[in-house]
Amino acid sequence: MRRIGLIGGMSFESTLVYYKLANEMVRDRLGGLASADIILHSLNFEEVVAMQKAGRWDLAAAHLAGSARALQAAGADCILICTNTMHLIASEVQAAVDIPLIHIVDETARALNARGLKRPLLLATRYTMEHGFYAQGMKALGIDVMVPEADDRGDMHEIIFGELCAGKVIDTSRARAMAMIERAKDAGADSVILGCTEICLLLDHETLPLPCVDSTTVHTRAAVDFALAIPGGQREAA
Ligand code: GLU
Repeated sequence: MRRIGLIGGMSFESTLVYYKLANEMVRDRLGGLASADIILHSLNFEEVVAMQKAGRWDLAAAHLAGSARALQAAGADCILICTNTMHLIASEVQAAVDIPLIHIVDETARALNARGLKRPLLLATRYTMEHGFYAQGMKALGIDVMVPEADDRGDMHEIIFGELCAGKVIDTSRARAMAMIERAKDAGADSVILGCTEICLLLDHETLPLPCVDSTTVHTRAAVDFALAIPGGQREAA
């Protein structure tokens, strides 16, 4: 089995989900007491958030590139950045190592495409919703990403940083997120991307009014496919 390298801690609430999911997926596929071979470098999120707030994506890129190099030196066969937002600097992280970086937007696009979904609503941090790297990454597949209106983007950003990353899952926030999805459905969305790795803690895909792709799940599944050497074309849709 190949070794999965995780750059986590952004926040640790979602890194826990990655860790658990990866192990469950390996056990389900291999049976018995099989579990994933993982190295985790868990960063101090407060430091990363300070760089985000200051718009110092250059410093953040250097920080995560250092983490990727450390994981490679420790024997990782691939790298996952366990947050959507920090994929803003994924190309710099990939450039720092020789092993593949499994990209969360590529995997989310693959999952949408496999289900014929073309007009997804992206729920994410303001950085992810407003920097356009999701829309760009999906254009080649003919997927036209929609983002919420400005007020809803601010609201979602607050829910992520003020609540979910702090370990708080609040019913009224769930209702606000559901209302955003309903508005997007009325405006023509055919699906929802849970484009922040903590949103799966708030929203249950089975209760949503639209089909949903959870970035945390598809990203983890891609890592497990890589670890077990399952080619991309044979992957299940999320
Ligand atoms: N985990 C979140 C994401 O997927 C937000 C934390 C961050 O800003 O890195 O974007």
